[in-house]
Amino acid sequence: PSSKRIALVSGGNKGIGLETCRQLASKGFKVLLTARNEARGLEAVEGVRRSGADVVFHQLDVTDPDSVARLADFVRDQFGKLDILINNAGISGVDRDPVLFAQVQEQVESMDVDQRVQWMKENSKETYEEAKECMRTNYYGAKLVTEALLPLLQLSSSGRIVNVSSGFSLLRNFNSEELKKEFDDIDNLTEKRLEELLDLFLEDFNANLIEAHGWPTGGSSAYKVAKAALNAYTRILAKRFPAMRINCLTPGFVKSDMSMHMGELTLEEGASNLVKVALLPDDGPNGAYFDRDGVASF
Ligand code: NDP
Repeated sequence: PSSKRIALVSGGNKGIGLETCRQLASKGFKVLLTARNEARGLEAVEGVRRSGADVVFHQLDVTDPDSVARLADFVRDQFGKLDILINNAGISGVDRDPVLFAQVQEQVESMDVDQRVQWMKENSKETYEEAKECMRTNYYGAKLVTEALLPLLQLSSSGRIVNVSSGFSLLRNFNSEELKKEFDDIDNLTEKRLEELLDLFLEDFNANLIEAHGWPTGGSSAYKVAKAALNAYTRILAKRFPAMRINCLTPGFVKSDMSMHMGELTLEEGASNLVKVALLPDDGPNGAYFDRDGVASF
């Protein structure tokens, strides 16, 4: 295995992922910047390299099993191990009108955070297709990549997995006590049951039963459920691999394409939380959720 520590970031071509690649490279990591679109990924790599960073590119669409397998082969052949995996790639699961989006940019600075969140809620449309895609990317995608890379992470002397979740993932967003309990019952929850719950959510979404059955409401339902599932998966894995540190986090409300540049934090500030959790010491928390102040409750 390579002597240099290797960090891999999904969705590394822009936003928080790209900034995380920059920060990890400046801390001496060899960074594997991945992106689903090769041209966008290579352009991002070129930009980061200009500052002297040790960054390499590999294509990765987290929803495509062949792409994930090719990436795992590449990491095995080139480095023989992986030290840090950051599952950052994600989508919002909502449709937004690009014209409205462009118009509002001029007013963002004069809106307070509540007004921004409200604007986003009112101007984001959830469809069944988007909801399905959101599950496929934000939960199943992260899981696919993790499963493929786990054997290589186990070859590291200090393997780390960082799952980029969201404040929207928190169980207080659920309105059913039973669902909250199921997502939180880490002693009994299995991946199989977790995925049954995701299927139930999609069925309810299709049948317009989200509210009636106590799923998160108020916009971005699928995103909230997918990220809650990502948190639960993080906890299940952490239990299974106690020698690694496997955690999830929120970067905070960050100005990026996903937040329509309405966030409060810069990309630098958002990415710093990913880096902090990626660099936890060997006796640091395992199976925890971090907000910007540290370990927080699910
Ligand atoms: P961006 O939209 O700027 O970046 C998202 C990244 O994910 C892009 O690189 C995108 O690639 C990539 N991506 C999407 N789908 C796939 C896929 N199937 N395979 C590989 N890559 C994919 O958003 P952010 O930087 O804000 O988001 C990064 C993470 O932070 C996400 O997981 C998000 O949920 C989370 N987050 C963000 C918050 C915020 O306020 N911004 C708040 C809480 C959480 P492409 O360019 O090709 O679309």
